[in-house]
Amino acid sequence: MHEAMFWERTNNSQVRCTLCRFRCVIAEGRLGRCKVRQNRDGKLYSLVYGRCIAEQIDPIEKKPLFHYHPGSLSYSIATVGCNFHCLHCQNHTISQWPSGRPIEGRELPPAELVRRATASGCQSIAYTYTEPTIYYEYAYDCAVLAKQQGLGNVFVSNGYTTPEALEKIAPYLDAANIDLKSFSAATYKKLTGAELQGVLETLRHYHQLGIWLEVTSLLIPGCNDTDEELRAMANFIVDQLGCDTPWHVTAFHPTYRMTETPRTPLATLQRARRIGADAGLHYIYEGNLPGSWEHTVCPDCGARVIERCGFQLTGRQLAAGRCSHCQAGIAGIGL
Ligand code: SF4
Repeated sequence: MHEAMFWERTNNSQVRCTLCRFRCVIAEGRLGRCKVRQNRDGKLYSLVYGRCIAEQIDPIEKKPLFHYHPGSLSYSIATVGCNFHCLHCQNHTISQWPSGRPIEGRELPPAELVRRATASGCQSIAYTYTEPTIYYEYAYDCAVLAKQQGLGNVFVSNGYTTPEALEKIAPYLDAANIDLKSFSAATYKKLTGAELQGVLETLRHYHQLGIWLEVTSLLIPGCNDTDEELRAMANFIVDQLGCDTPWHVTAFHPTYRMTETPRTPLATLQRARRIGADAGLHYIYEGNLPGSWEHTVCPDCGARVIERCGFQLTGRQLAAGRCSHCQAGIAGIGL
């Protein structure tokens, strides 16, 4: 048990968690929506501090982050729990933790995590697989230590952190991949339980704070894949986050509570990429299907500056962040 960083007393023995935009009011002895924060004797505690349920060395491309130290490795961790209840969650066995079930995960203190990440040759730590916001105190302590040791920190997040919590960790966060799951408030609510507006505000906040940002939209047939909705997502990214923000359009596979929905065809990803390009986005990537377009193209001369296959780099035609053909700058960090 570790005292939470973002909470306040309301009345009597209730507390309000101010870590994510749900801002749960939690009665004595009860858990928040994420099932890993508890009010004990009028104080809020994280139940997952240092309790690592997943620990893996991944290519940074797997996050996906294509414009942050491409070709590097990222030490990737998670605890159990999540604030969203997505019907199509691929990691539901660890994210949708049942209320009251003892917390699982082995002890991995921040200093040991940073030591392992450094020893394994990783350039960053990725807080991923479940929602990093719900294990914020652990991620924060790891991120501070990692930064001191010269490692980067990246969040793979659903974009629902409160402004105050995001501002506190921002000096230690180098990059993030945030989901934009739909551009319909009703679909967002149905699919995840969250409000679209909250996600849009968080995306803008990341951009304003200067954290390198990439956006992922998992395209689900019949759910969020009309031309109109794809155009609305692309326009939002161009207008609010900038045309250099990479957009990953990825394919859905039937899982969890959406086993009746068909897989996304490659043609849908290709259509989304055309719509993104028409909206003015410079870097659009397809993912999760064989034949997906994964290469980075110079927006000025059209040359392929980074070629990828799966999560591997197969070609590189840039130096010091500039296209080797025309010397135009390619957006990102560590290119
Ligand atoms: S982090 Fe958990 S307890 Fe806190 S507001 Fe979000 S869902 Fe509620």
